[in-house]
Amino acid sequence: MTTTLELLAPFSGPAIALDRVPDPVFAGLMMGDGLAIEPLSPTLLAPCSGAVAQLARTGHALTLAADNGAEVLIHIGIDTVKLEGRGFRPLVAVGDKVTAGQPLIEVDLDAVARRAPSLQTMVVIANSEQFRFPRRAEGLLEAGRSHFLTLAAREAVSPRESAGGPERRGEATVRHEGGLHARPSALVQQAAKRREAEVFIEFAGKRANARSVVALMGLGVAEDDRVAVIASGHDADAALADVIEALQTRSEAGHAAVAPAEAREPVAGYLAGVAAAPGLAIGRAVRLDAFEMPLPEQGAGEAAERAALAAALRRVRDAISSGIDAALRRGATAESDIFAAHLALLDDPELLSAAEADIAAGRGAGFGFRRAVRAQCAVLAGLGNPLLAERVADLKDIERQVLVALYGEPEQGPELFDDSILVAEDLAPSELTRLPPGKVAGIVTAAGGASGHVAILARALGIPALVACGPSALALQPGQTLVLDARAGLANPQPTPSDLAAARAEIDKLAARRRAMQASANAPAITVDGVAIEVAVNIANADDAREGVAHGADAVGLLRTEFLFIDRRDAPTEAEQTAAYQAVLDALDGRHAIIRTLDVGGDKEVPYLQLPLEPNPALGLRGIRTGFAYPDMLDAQLRALLAVKPLSRLRILVPMITDVGELIRLRERIEQLAGEMSLSERPQLGVMVEVPSAALLADQLAKHADFLSIGSNDLTQYTLAMDRCNATLAARIDSMHPGLLRLIAITVEGAKKYGKWVGVCGAMASDPQAVPVLIGLGVAELSVSPRLVPEVKSLVRGLSRRHCEEEALRLLALGSPQAVRGRVTELWPGV
Ligand code: PEP
Ligand code: MG
Repeated sequence: MTTTLELLAPFSGPAIALDRVPDPVFAGLMMGDGLAIEPLSPTLLAPCSGAVAQLARTGHALTLAADNGAEVLIHIGIDTVKLEGRGFRPLVAVGDKVTAGQPLIEVDLDAVARRAPSLQTMVVIANSEQFRFPRRAEGLLEAGRSHFLTLAAREAVSPRESAGGPERRGEATVRHEGGLHARPSALVQQAAKRREAEVFIEFAGKRANARSVVALMGLGVAEDDRVAVIASGHDADAALADVIEALQTRSEAGHAAVAPAEAREPVAGYLAGVAAAPGLAIGRAVRLDAFEMPLPEQGAGEAAERAALAAALRRVRDAISSGIDAALRRGATAESDIFAAHLALLDDPELLSAAEADIAAGRGAGFGFRRAVRAQCAVLAGLGNPLLAERVADLKDIERQVLVALYGEPEQGPELFDDSILVAEDLAPSELTRLPPGKVAGIVTAAGGASGHVAILARALGIPALVACGPSALALQPGQTLVLDARAGLANPQPTPSDLAAARAEIDKLAARRRAMQASANAPAITVDGVAIEVAVNIANADDAREGVAHGADAVGLLRTEFLFIDRRDAPTEAEQTAAYQAVLDALDGRHAIIRTLDVGGDKEVPYLQLPLEPNPALGLRGIRTGFAYPDMLDAQLRALLAVKPLSRLRILVPMITDVGELIRLRERIEQLAGEMSLSERPQLGVMVEVPSAALLADQLAKHADFLSIGSNDLTQYTLAMDRCNATLAARIDSMHPGLLRLIAITVEGAKKYGKWVGVCGAMASDPQAVPVLIGLGVAELSVSPRLVPEVKSLVRGLSRRHCEEEALRLLALGSPQAVRGRVTELWPGV
């Protein structure tokens, strides 16, 4: 039996990852692993030679028994069995021997497309547990010529044998700040995955597969250590060069590794630890004990356990991916970065092969997976590198999620108080994010560190956290009251009445400040020299709109309509859309709402649209370009928007405009549709300034638009050429870059020529340090997260627009975002 088999593309068309197909049975790998394709050619060709083992009576599916034992099931379209054979003409019969590329079934693509939900064709290996899939095609393929899928038999093939080819050796000096911790290891892994060759890194007598983040971290390589790199396979030279470059290209530790906070000296009667997130809290201890689900050691058979593990991993992968999307939509980049790192751990081949070795020895999937994770945790904890030791919590988080996917939730979580202080050996990031945020007053952990992911999350969520307190933290009893002063690195486990009174007074003082801001939140934000700044909110639905109003928002500055379109299998109807938009307007009590047309593509996906795969999605079909490419979808959304009442309170905003031609085209379309609907009124139309060309041409845009709104998230990404989703660049992608400030200044100047106003709806508007700068540059509206409205309004009220203007001009002459922030701190020390 041959060990590898290369399948050829069965149709011409773009390859589609199986988990993207709109059928849960295939997407969930219940039929086996494989790959899908969107057919653009009319004849199904045999992807490999073999015998026709099965042919559906209705001609829409067949199975080939390949010469290497693989059972290759090909299913044309979704729900096509219902067509009862219409549109399919089989050219072969059961038992026929076929050769690769031979025509198998003729398909009337138009007829099938009209009757079936999708033409996507799935090629799955029914006995996929016997194979690995080292290579899957991407992009546009040619039927019978392009590579589609590589199968490698799992039988006792050592990775190096399967790679074959020449072996190349080289050396690299690891330049990553902090050594090979999680993020640099993920970068090295990505470089290795781009090639077919097997690559290993050797260090201090240990060897790690470069495709395995956990194995790389387990080497314990520090910054400036020298490592050996060994590659074998037909593209070994290229793989060696890529991996050496990935090892030697410096990345900064970024916000994952804040300067390690010192542990507080012990103080008698107090718990001392590392202040991981500042703040003061009084609360009651809630013990989150280590996750130790009882697991069956014996498995129910190798194939069943393997399949169960594969399905569980896929479920967790999907859940984490949705978590990343949701976090990105909320602008919670700390959260999305952390979950992206979890995805790399979940896909780790070393963890999987260790678990599979246990499964092959008759053990259960969960038992094997847990053993694999724990072995790796022991390695990381023993390396003496705090950055690596802190990844143990991430590994255990992955373990917990996979076990829950395998066996379900073991029990109800602990009961929370309204002022819970979570006490644990260590906390998993997902344990924190799934708890109701209003109930967590603080965090105390025995282990962990200031650069652990849970610490980053706690800072992002504003929850005081004290970590690395040692085992005495675990002596805290459930329900016990404590005062957590994370600012001082201390927790008082036995507060006297006077300690409690002092802490309460301090907390009250801070709360009074917040309340004062809240109390005046409904009043307009007017600078000391009398300039009114509109403070609006970014929202996703009517609930957010209500929250915004409760916090004093003047308007909705950005409704991202993607929420209506994602996480569904088909497009929302016009009526559904109108109802959702109307609900937002109705929640606003007379305020206006800026509603953005669909912004998909790039980092925002809509599964049922099946956008073509692109080498650079952020530079491809996204925003209004997608709208013009799918005119029916755009028209439906425009009609849905034009149906809301009153139109005087609606402002339509267009994403990713690059020049005035697009704006004029859209305005004309709105005119036509409004005419067809016999409307007498028109909503205002605004342009998002998200790409440098829009900023540079702001005057031309302002001539035809009613207002401009700066999408600083994208404008920063495209101005600095730094991917907003790239965790490695997270520390450097700063909207206070002078390059960006100059573009904002140009935008405001351009808009002024035609008397139009400019707002900012990207995350920059929510950054207190950016507020005086934006006001100084002439921005008239700031659209922020709902709970920040009172703070931003109070900040605006303390500023003089004239002073901001003078200083902003000087900031434009500075050379870096650090210089800008340094100067802002001197000028406005309180912010
Ligand atoms: C932006 O780019 O700043 C913006 C507000 O749009 P989004 O974050 O949805 O891309
Ligand atoms: Mg944007």
